[in-house]
Amino acid sequence: MDRYGLLGKQIGYAKSPKIHLYMAKKLGLDIRYDLFDVEENDIPALMKLIRNQTIKGINVTIPYKQTVMKYVDQLTPKANRIKAVNTIYYKNGKLIGDNTDYDGFMGLLLKHQIQVKDKNVYLLGAGGAAKAAYCVLQDLGAHVVVVSRHTNDLDPLFQHVTSFQKLNPDLVDLYVQATPIGTYPNVTESVIDASYVKNHSVIDLVYNPEVTQIMKDAKVGIGGIYMLLIQALKSEEIWFEIKHDITKTLLDELKEVVR
Ligand code: NAP
Repeated sequence: MDRYGLLGKQIGYAKSPKIHLYMAKKLGLDIRYDLFDVEENDIPALMKLIRNQTIKGINVTIPYKQTVMKYVDQLTPKANRIKAVNTIYYKNGKLIGDNTDYDGFMGLLLKHQIQVKDKNVYLLGAGGAAKAAYCVLQDLGAHVVVVSRHTNDLDPLFQHVTSFQKLNPDLVDLYVQATPIGTYPNVTESVIDASYVKNHSVIDLVYNPEVTQIMKDAKVGIGGIYMLLIQALKSEEIWFEIKHDITKTLLDELKEVVR
């Protein structure tokens, strides 16, 4: 039985085990998928288990997406650009760090048929998920302004930055919400006042609850569940060396699995 898992802290809530075990069964693969809810000083031992192939691959979540970069031998160009790793595997004698959050956000836009080319976008938050979303938006030709509480010491990746106090809804077409605000159990919270989004579309990367407060406040609200599912499927493509047919039917099936 091949072993996989999720590295993070306080990850009892994680939906990834359900997704991967369901997909493995569908593919006829016999796998385990464990939660590695560990302290930072336990990470080298975990990496050793991937190196010797006791564990075939892992996902990485908060707070270790940046931490693990120093433990891998090689970053894929995507992970290097985003400066965050959410998928680790061992290939050709090397421990490799990749980032499938990029593919997850790209897939979310495609599946919801959201065109961002030449659109003005406020990206709320500047953490790991925001960086992946930023790269996708840039690659698709959007004009992105990152909105953060700390406008001075942000990653140089972000070219245009502003503060929450300076938001002007008249200047944007779309909001992408990439802070954890509104996540269960704080389901009535939103990172910005409802008046900013009432005439706008919002994509919220938060997926629990399915409909967040900012989505309710917006004219059109799209949640982060497709991103979650697609990043998981893309990690499997890397680990299992397969290609998934990521149809809307499959995504809706998986939505029920994690519900
Ligand atoms: P992170 O690296 O910790 O970044 C969080 C960001 O939110 C930081 O920029 C932080 O700003 C900002 N923030 C936190 N509290 C804030 C507040 N009260 N007001 C304004 N800004 C605030 O986390 P992450 O990995 O990017 O994840 C962010 C969210 O995206 C999480 O809810 C996560 O579940 C979700 N996510 C979803 C998917 C998916 O597949 N759908 C994938 C990845 C992440 P400061 O630096 O000022 O604290």
